[in-house]
Amino acid sequence: MKDLQEIRSLFPIFQTKVNGKKLVYFDNGATTQKPISVINSIENYYAHVNSNVHRGVHYLSNLATDKLETVRCGVQKFLNAKFEHEIIFTKGTTDAINLVAQCLKRDLDENSEIIISELEHHSNIVPWQLACEEVGAKIKVIPLKENGELDWSVFEKLLSNKTKLVAISHVSNGLGTINPIKYVIDNAKKFNAKVLIDGAQAASHIPVNVQKLDVDFYCFSGHKVFGPTGVGVLYGKETVLNSMPPYQGGGEMIKNVSFKKTTYAELPHKFEAGTPNIAGIIGLGAALDFINKIGLNKIFEHEINLTEYATKELLKIKGLKIYGTAQKKSAIISFNVDKLHHYDIGVLLDKMGVAVRTGHHCNQPIMEKYNIEGTVRISLAFYNTKEEIDCCVDAIKKSIKMLS
Ligand code: PMP
Repeated sequence: MKDLQEIRSLFPIFQTKVNGKKLVYFDNGATTQKPISVINSIENYYAHVNSNVHRGVHYLSNLATDKLETVRCGVQKFLNAKFEHEIIFTKGTTDAINLVAQCLKRDLDENSEIIISELEHHSNIVPWQLACEEVGAKIKVIPLKENGELDWSVFEKLLSNKTKLVAISHVSNGLGTINPIKYVIDNAKKFNAKVLIDGAQAASHIPVNVQKLDVDFYCFSGHKVFGPTGVGVLYGKETVLNSMPPYQGGGEMIKNVSFKKTTYAELPHKFEAGTPNIAGIIGLGAALDFINKIGLNKIFEHEINLTEYATKELLKIKGLKIYGTAQKKSAIISFNVDKLHHYDIGVLLDKMGVAVRTGHHCNQPIMEKYNIEGTVRISLAFYNTKEEIDCCVDAIKKSIKMLS
């Protein structure tokens, strides 16, 4: 990607040395680094704007409210949602999925089924288990094939009039597989089933158009799109959100409270009880502005080139096995080397300044499928370079030598 060094210079963290070495940050699937514009937007809010939103009559409160609602409008554009009020601010992807699971629970009974997949992050498994356990509904699981793709022929067999919801990740955090979400949505619609797409690993890599997808829910986390932690987004189709009860009760989400009958606020506030993470939302807005300036199409192209290069170089290492070789893959590479423990490799890479993730990546069903405990995971972002991949590959070779 052109201007890469210029882009990298906007991230203060890249000045940091790790164990005396230049930082190579390949743990973007866990969280991404923050550009200075995001950091400044948060500092500026606390230094010059700090005030509560939606309820004040004074200048600062109105300014904070304007800033927050401008971000909502920015997220609407980012996802191409039809209405601003279809954008609900949450704590993150996990919070968004729990919101939907708890609010849809009342529409489920012993005859209901929810379809998820063997590829899901625990955040897109456990909330459905909690909801289904309570009402006696069943979970059906689309199996994973050896190459890291889901077995879609089984999905079509699992779908029935009992299916109330299909919840699938856009991109697998463990293997990088890009799922064919339009196909999932179109097939689920034939049975009137709702669809939730977990976009935690997609939003910073792939352009999303929720209207074109005709999806009911799409969610992602601020911290994985170069924004702060503790903030995320749930997109919900207006009609679907309106048909759901509130998630949490409290201030902000009511129209009128009395002991006889409490009524609820209109969208989006009905689902935003309490004081929101104002600084976090403002930081998220700055992060999306940053992404928009570079452009997701450009980002995707750069990351795919990097992933192909990294894959080619890694496969030259004797005994290295990559898990997940789907035809359509995002910038995630999971691997193990012979009998070496993934944790040992991760620790040695860290000593050489290379940050990767090791373990099950909140994907225990995937690990069970491959009969392994975990992997080393490289997850790339647009600010990563070919030189960093060379440095990582070199560090892996040195680690193998040290451990063998
Ligand atoms: N889904 C996927 C696919 C993820 O990768 C993650 C984070 N690793 C989550 C959900 C949960 O995101 P968060 O912890 O930000 O809520």
